Amino acid sequence: MCVARVQLAPAPSTLHPVRDVVVVGGGLAGARAVQELRGQGYDGRLTLLAAEPHLPYDRPPLSKGRLQDDEEKIALDVPWDDLDVDLRLGCRATRLRATRLETSDGDVPYDGLVLATGAQPNRLPGSGFTLRGVDDARELGHRLVDGARVVVVGAGWVGAEVATVAAQAGCDVTVLEAGEAPLAALPREVGGYAVPWYAEAGIDLRLRAKAVEVEHDRVRLEDGETLTADVVLVAVGAAPDTDWLAGSGIALDHGVLVDEHLSTDLPGVVAAGDCVARWSPRYATRLRVEHWDDALHGPAVAAATLLGKEAVYDPVPYFWSDQLGHTLQWAGFARGADAVIRRGKPGSPDGWAFCWLAGPRLVAMLTVDRPRDLVQGRRRIDQGAQPDPARLADLAVPVKSA
Ligand SMILES: Cc1cc2nc3c(=O)[nH]c(=O)nc-3n(C[C@H](O)[C@H](O)[C@H](O)COP(=O)(O)OP(=O)(O)OC[C@H]3O[C@@H](n4cnc5c(N)ncnc54)[C@H](O)[C@@H]3O)c2cc1C
Repeated sequence: MCVARVQLAPAPSTLHPVRDVVVVGGGLAGARAVQELRGQGYDGRLTLLAAEPHLPYDRPPLSKGRLQDDEEKIALDVPWDDLDVDLRLGCRATRLRATRLETSDGDVPYDGLVLATGAQPNRLPGSGFTLRGVDDARELGHRLVDGARVVVVGAGWVGAEVATVAAQAGCDVTVLEAGEAPLAALPREVGGYAVPWYAEAGIDLRLRAKAVEVEHDRVRLEDGETLTADVVLVAVGAAPDTDWLAGSGIALDHGVLVDEHLSTDLPGVVAAGDCVARWSPRYATRLRVEHWDDALHGPAVAAATLLGKEAVYDPVPYFWSDQLGHTLQWAGFARGADAVIRRGKPGSPDGWAFCWLAGPRLVAMLTVDRPRDLVQGRRRIDQGAQPDPARLADLAVPVKSA
């Protein structure tokens, strides 16, 4: 499977001129960047600026039943003591200058920079909870108690996952979705199949219900109706955390613009993870993937690029979600697909999948409770495979031999 192609050239330490690297952002991408820089031979000064007061941790568990966990339990497994890194927790970069960063703790000089500031949840006018970090999760988790009335705005990934947790905790859960179906980020043929999952989980899903304002315990809908709740979670997507870069001269467009080497348009500045909009030669377009797999693997390429090595990041996109008793996994990019094949029967206990074809080529796949199909499908998408549609539709035929 193509995840990242890093061609390591000779003796890294003689190749790279950077001696004072700063990584901005203490999430998965930032932590991985630190590890990769050291792992790839960088032995100069290394500083990690992390706005949150916590050691870098994993976010996916926060919406999947672990809302009240201590951060130690979800902390990333990073040998900080061995990495010789100046770890500045609770320090936020506020402005990017040519050779220094302005931060909440004063100026920090650099000659090489990794931007890994992630994303921030979108909000609605008014208030309401959002979920991004461990502090949000803890506060929200304490309120999801038996009998609490919970309104979740948005039937996307985080909304569906938190609704699942809330229903399991005995809450009375309503999910408001502005669109015709849940999972609006996926091709439209998919969402309708997720509708029955809500009723099965005891959740009231209201479609074409657009929330326009939240006031503590009240949600106002576009049609004027008002719902009252004990807890309101606004889960309507996220946007790259790049406001602090405005006016610095770096190219931005719904994220930090990077090429396939994860280089920005500024010399000595690379970026990775949720904050980037990266050029994909594979798809001849710019992608904002905003999922865990990109934050895990992209930093290897960002670090290599900063160290003067030839490296390209252009994998088949991948993400997953655990919601309403199902594991959904996605691989590929469906834009330009002209046929969709249903593999198995939705609702079947054996799981099912959708496969998108562009001409004869498999370009994307969504699996429901079929992780093996996804692994094989992602590999086949990467290879540009041209499966036999009838065999692909047959659950008895492994995806790798369809
Ligand atoms: C609740 C939740 C559940 C998720 N579940 C899944 C899932 O099931 N599957 C999946 O594929 N993906 C999932 N994701 C997405 C995945 O977690 C993200 O793609 C990943 O965390 C991105 O990592 P990152 O390091 O780029 O950004 P982040 O994790 O957002 O980390 C960025 C860090 O940078 C800090 N920062 C921002 N600005 C500054 C600044 N100016 N100075 C210093 N520090 C700064 C932020 O405070 C933050 O700590 C989920 C996300 C959330 C929030």
